[in-house]
Amino acid sequence: MIEFKNVTKSYPNGVHALNRISLQIEDGEFIYIIGPTGSGKSTIIKILNGEEVPDSGLVIVDSVDVGSLKHRKVPKYRRNIGCVFQDYRLLPTLTVQENIAFALEVLGLPKKMIRKRVQEVLELVDLKEKARAYPDELSGGQQQRVTIGRAIANRPKILIADEPTGNLDPEKSREIIALLEKINAMGTTVVMVTHDIVLVNEFKKRTITLDQGFVVKDSKKGGYVSV
Ligand code: ADP
Ligand code: ADP
Repeated sequence: MIEFKNVTKSYPNGVHALNRISLQIEDGEFIYIIGPTGSGKSTIIKILNGEEVPDSGLVIVDSVDVGSLKHRKVPKYRRNIGCVFQDYRLLPTLTVQENIAFALEVLGLPKKMIRKRVQEVLELVDLKEKARAYPDELSGGQQQRVTIGRAIANRPKILIADEPTGNLDPEKSREIIALLEKINAMGTTVVMVTHDIVLVNEFKKRTITLDQGFVVKDSKKGGYVSV
């Protein structure tokens, strides 16, 4: 479970990015976080993956008090969290299968297991035929599917996606949501930040709306957002 309790975060320039945010996300949920630019969406994600620390309040992820995590414990904590970004961030000199394998190699998984996992992931993201292609030989939709595969290769409990469809057309965006739904159905909690109101209204899920660092709405099933 993910819990934010009265979380406040400001940056050194004095900007209040989050103001006494409280929310709970249960294991296995798929939620959207929406809101205008600057409303605090990325700050929530950075706190979740241990990149930023709240000024006050409590952030608990699977019983770990993330706000008071020691620096040296952050890498181990992050193993439970897969991250996907708008701009793919694949390693350009590695093939698709090497990109996925690399994420597991740095975790020190045995070679045999890595090979097996890479095959499973390629199948899941439907890119077996592109295993030996390089990122620049793939379409945007394909690259994002590789990124998602890489993010979940280690079977994290939580997948965080920050604007994963931001560079994709509506059809490719739907494919990405369908893939995230498949991963969610396998038991992974999915937290997706998005600007794409059309998607939010089409694939209805719990939707948390931020504005100026406040939670202004938390609705069970989306589908209510005006375009
Ligand atoms: P969103 O993801 O919704 O666009 P952010 O969490 O990125 O919102 O930003 C919330 C507020 O914090 C904004 O006013 C932004 O300018 C500010 N902010 C974000 N990151 C930093 C930073 N590293 N230093 C200073 N201000 C920041
Ligand atoms: P997807 O549905 O996976 O996003 P597309 O339908 O966009 O893929 O692309 C179909 C085929 O064209 C793919 O096999 C892909 O390799 C190739 N392709 C698409 N866009 C590009 C691109 N920008 N550069 C190289 N190949 C591309």
